[in-house]
Amino acid sequence: MVEMRDYHPETLAVAAGRVESPGAPLNVPPTFASTYRDGGAIGYGRWGNPTWSAFEEALGVLEGGDAVAFSSGQGAIATTLSLLPPGARVLYPVDAYLGTRALLSRLESEGRLTIRPIDVTDTDAVLDAVGHVDALWLESPTNPLLGVAELPRILTAANDVGVVSVVDNTFATPFVQRPLTWGATIVVHSATKYIGGHSDLLLGAVVTRDSQRRDELVRRRTLDGAIPGTMETYLALRGLRTLPVRLARQQSTAGVLATRLSEHARVMRVRYPGLATDPHHGRALSQMKGFGAMLAFEVADAAAADRLTGALELIVGTTSLGGVETTIDRRHRWPGEENVPPGLLRLSVGLEHVDDLWMDLEGALAQLDARA
Ligand SMILES: *Cc1c(COP(=O)(O)O)cnc(C)c1O
Repeated sequence: MVEMRDYHPETLAVAAGRVESPGAPLNVPPTFASTYRDGGAIGYGRWGNPTWSAFEEALGVLEGGDAVAFSSGQGAIATTLSLLPPGARVLYPVDAYLGTRALLSRLESEGRLTIRPIDVTDTDAVLDAVGHVDALWLESPTNPLLGVAELPRILTAANDVGVVSVVDNTFATPFVQRPLTWGATIVVHSATKYIGGHSDLLLGAVVTRDSQRRDELVRRRTLDGAIPGTMETYLALRGLRTLPVRLARQQSTAGVLATRLSEHARVMRVRYPGLATDPHHGRALSQMKGFGAMLAFEVADAAAADRLTGALELIVGTTSLGGVETTIDRRHRWPGEENVPPGLLRLSVGLEHVDDLWMDLEGALAQLDARA
């Protein structure tokens, strides 16, 4: 392995996780093996896999820690939460990812953890609360309201009082922010989203600089069995190689669409930290490299939002996000998202031409006029 740490992220995305020996395949191929001949490093397929290691190496270099891959984002989150001692008090975003909230609620109802929701965009409230908990779960930008938490300050404060901090970096990716460099104990990912990037796999990862935690995560993955698939890790590393280029385009398209949506008469509100008028713009500007490619906009009500989604021809109505395809989701329809405005549509901006996307949105918005 050549020393990777000094290259730019775009270079690391391409060059990390390769085998450097003469005659080796340029990229680590998928190794399909449930078991290995005696005398080697791995032994059994649940203990490790060269394809997982290649993916983990690349993601670890990009986030600035050691990565451990899991079968899904939820597998990564569940295993991370399993590291907390019984009775640990956990502060978490009131609008955290649905699956995270459901898991935290279950762990609380089982008496395993005590949980407390908080608006993570309210820095003072978080700083007041952080001394009274054992762990801090963070997401930024938040889903689907696109709030921005002041991660550098919050993570520093958590460190000062010895509180374990976890950042779900799925929306931002390491190309937009690297929470470990601000002192986060752990970063988790749903690699299903931007890292995989093509809506064809499920995968998760945990990244940390703490070698004891890293080893414990591997032990738990081995024992609990939430191991990643070979093909999934292969495809995710393939996706990671092009993520900086995809993200650059997706972010710039998101910025254009956010501006045009914000100027449209049928749109009540646009939430995108890249908009100069967004309440979190300054904060995002100071701590993020770009603003991500997720945005949300509101039309009059749920019926209007559904009519709009039904009138779209190019943009796909579906949950999930982060793929090359632009997708749209009315979040309020999901149980557990009752606090989201009913007419809010979350847009995951993909790689289609910006003018085609705008034509689709404008055409669908015009239908709201016609039927109003
Ligand atoms: C999708 C998602 C998850 C869960 O990941 P899966 O790969 O679906 O298990 C966790 N966090 C965020 C922010 C997500 O968007």
